[in-house]
Amino acid sequence: MRRKLAAGNWKMNGTLASLGEVQALSRSHTAPKVDILLCPPTPLIWPMASARDGDQVMVGAQDCHANTSGAHTGDVSAAMVKEAGATAVILGHSERRTDHGETSELVENKVNAVWKQDLLAVICLGETLKEREDGDTLAVVGEQLAASTPEGANGENTVIAYEPVWAIGTGLVPTLDQIAEVHDFLRAELTARFGETTANDIRLLYGGSVKASNAAEIFAVSNVDGALVGGASLKADDFSPIVTALEASV
Ligand code: PEP
Repeated sequence: MRRKLAAGNWKMNGTLASLGEVQALSRSHTAPKVDILLCPPTPLIWPMASARDGDQVMVGAQDCHANTSGAHTGDVSAAMVKEAGATAVILGHSERRTDHGETSELVENKVNAVWKQDLLAVICLGETLKEREDGDTLAVVGEQLAASTPEGANGENTVIAYEPVWAIGTGLVPTLDQIAEVHDFLRAELTARFGETTANDIRLLYGGSVKASNAAEIFAVSNVDGALVGGASLKADDFSPIVTALEASV
């Protein structure tokens, strides 16, 4: 069975003063029935990994470079974030795709770099509002999935996060039927490419305005194995009930 995953993306938020949140989260979930992952800004990876109370909260990065080292000012490699304490890396978040022009081909290269370090790749994909209104959602996420996911994906090295761009940070959430349609489609696409056994091991997260009040109903949707959470992951008081809702769905 896929172990469910509650992942938090702090984006460009948080300082050393915020690390009390990870301690509070660790103390609220001493023996979690699900995996918990927090991805702070890069400078906080090491302090967060050190500040945790136990290792029940995994720490991850929000991006890394596809190369191992070299002349890439401002970038960090997968090996560097691993050394800092990360065990997972979010890749292809829509904010990276938009702000930095990241293509699925680049994301695929980054996934390979992350795998080389034995880290977990959390590959993000999702349609814009225009693409949804034009009826192109499945075509768009199918293309992103195919092009961003290298050969060799499995449940140990890969998580897929479906995040409709229009739902991120907006308070808007697709209907449960819309979430189910995309997640069932992604599972079928993974099955066609990697076979049923491997596809059934790969976790599919939903992301986009998940909060305590809507988490339980989203976690009841078919093929939803957890959530990637932005704003509501910044405070333990907001994220902890989401973790609890996910545990209740197990
Ligand atoms: C995200 O950034 O991945 C995200 C889902 O953000 P939010 O939960 O704030 O919509």
